[in-house]
Amino acid sequence: MKKGIPLQELVSFLDAELGLAEFPKDDSSNGLQVEGNSPVGKAAVAVDACEYVFEEAWGRGVDLLVVHHGLIWGGIRSLRGVIKKRIQMLFDSGISLYACHLPLDWHPRYGNNIQLLRRLSLKKKGEFGEYHGRRIGYWGELRRPVHASAFVSSVDKALDTRSRAVIFRDRVQNIGVVSGGGWSAIHDAERLGIDTFLTGEPSHTAYTFAEELKVNLVFAGHYATETLGVGAVGDTLARRFRIPVEFIDHPTGL
Ligand SMILES: [Zn+2]
Repeated sequence: MKKGIPLQELVSFLDAELGLAEFPKDDSSNGLQVEGNSPVGKAAVAVDACEYVFEEAWGRGVDLLVVHHGLIWGGIRSLRGVIKKRIQMLFDSGISLYACHLPLDWHPRYGNNIQLLRRLSLKKKGEFGEYHGRRIGYWGELRRPVHASAFVSSVDKALDTRSRAVIFRDRVQNIGVVSGGGWSAIHDAERLGIDTFLTGEPSHTAYTFAEELKVNLVFAGHYATETLGVGAVGDTLARRFRIPVEFIDHPTGL
């Protein structure tokens, strides 16, 4: 019999550890989306569930794939075209797909946002950025203020990205962080006195709010701000269950 960890054991661990129950209204169907092989001898993590990632996972002999952006958002209407092809690949390969969206942005240990704070050497000050009725981001403080351009360079280096920045003040010290498409968290900046807001995707709508609040905008890329959460989950799976876990990188540059 094949060696590995029973799929259900890994799924139960992830469901509890990642706090899925905290976000019952997430658009993403969080948890095991597609059931495949058990036991799991090898796992992988990635940001997006897509053909490239599935092909890589298949080639590398992966049994369980954990992603931030899964395949099922608000139910299934039909299985055609691209979606059919993706599902078919999972069935043919026997790879299980596990998705964790908002809980993996919010999570105080594994989440993209707490991981971003750590990666950028920001001291955590509090929660930041309301989304679907609760805060999913954090804000933090640099040990000393830096020039805005120096901060943007440090983000690019730390996340291996090329940020788009809109600067309304030179001095940067208090930074709000919401990964991915989190621009609407700008409204939280006023109350907390944040001088800089870091998120993933550029937003035209955010510009005039930032201008009037005098808050810098740093758009570091949706992908680049969301690799750290799945990475942290992968590290924990490898350590706790002693199975190989690989990161499948598929940057979009967006
Ligand atoms: Zn995202």
